[in-house]
Amino acid sequence: MAEQQRILITDLDNTLWDWFDAWYQSFSALLDGLQAISGLDRELLEIQIREVHQRRGTTEYSNLVREVPALVEFSGTRDPFEVFDDALHAQSSARRRETKLYPGVREVLDQLKARGIRVVAYTESTAYWTEWRIKHTGLDGVIDVLYSSPDHDLLSGIDPAALRTGRYRGQFGLRSTIHRQVPLGILKPDTHVISSILQEEEVPRSNALYLGDSLMKDIAMAQAAEVLDVYAEYGRVQDQEEYDLLRRVTHWSQKDVERERALAGPRADVIPTATCHETINEILPIFGSSFAGLR
Ligand SMILES: [Mg+2]
Repeated sequence: MAEQQRILITDLDNTLWDWFDAWYQSFSALLDGLQAISGLDRELLEIQIREVHQRRGTTEYSNLVREVPALVEFSGTRDPFEVFDDALHAQSSARRRETKLYPGVREVLDQLKARGIRVVAYTESTAYWTEWRIKHTGLDGVIDVLYSSPDHDLLSGIDPAALRTGRYRGQFGLRSTIHRQVPLGILKPDTHVISSILQEEEVPRSNALYLGDSLMKDIAMAQAAEVLDVYAEYGRVQDQEEYDLLRRVTHWSQKDVERERALAGPRADVIPTATCHETINEILPIFGSSFAGLR
């Protein structure tokens, strides 16, 4: 009998690419620019930015400068996009420069696909920026199916209602990867999406491997869904000093911030079944072995 179909379900941010570093570099460039142009206090800006992020449910909100009260006030009758144009340019060039795959990612995905393993991605990031990163890193078509959150960056001419009805195919331009939207309000570690993926792919849970960098979201979810969990430890950034900036402007609830902080400590209560310590290459021997033997 032929080997049964296996799949890789993978997180994206800080699992395939260093999302945090690209976010940190681009957001810092934006903040520096906003401060230089307006002369406003950085702490005030951070507090007001956090409020917008919380309301919009993302830290990658393109309309940000039009909704931060102090920036709107500073702009007077002018469009904040115009007033802060230099800062927005600095942000997007840092994003382009710093968004790149971790070493080995492309090679590992190519090898898995050559062995007939399907690659499905599941991210909490929003549709627009996720598609942008997939295109930018050359993974359009390498990832077979993408599941992402619905979008907060509604582009003109697109009916928001149409975006929220189930699935759509790459309206923002993915050519080969099929893009499915996760219902609003579903967040990891809810196992709903994993169940849908297994059903759509017609693969039993014993033939799926889930890879992700977040103990609180990815590993807890895979374990609850009884799918083999592999921790992408190489993507861990919570111990970096720079991570505090993300904590200060995050869209996450304070409870989630504290929960994640506790999991980064020595008494973490989510223990991964397998771990890629240094690079994603460490996943290859796991695919070469019996998943059941590891669990
Ligand atoms: Mg991640």
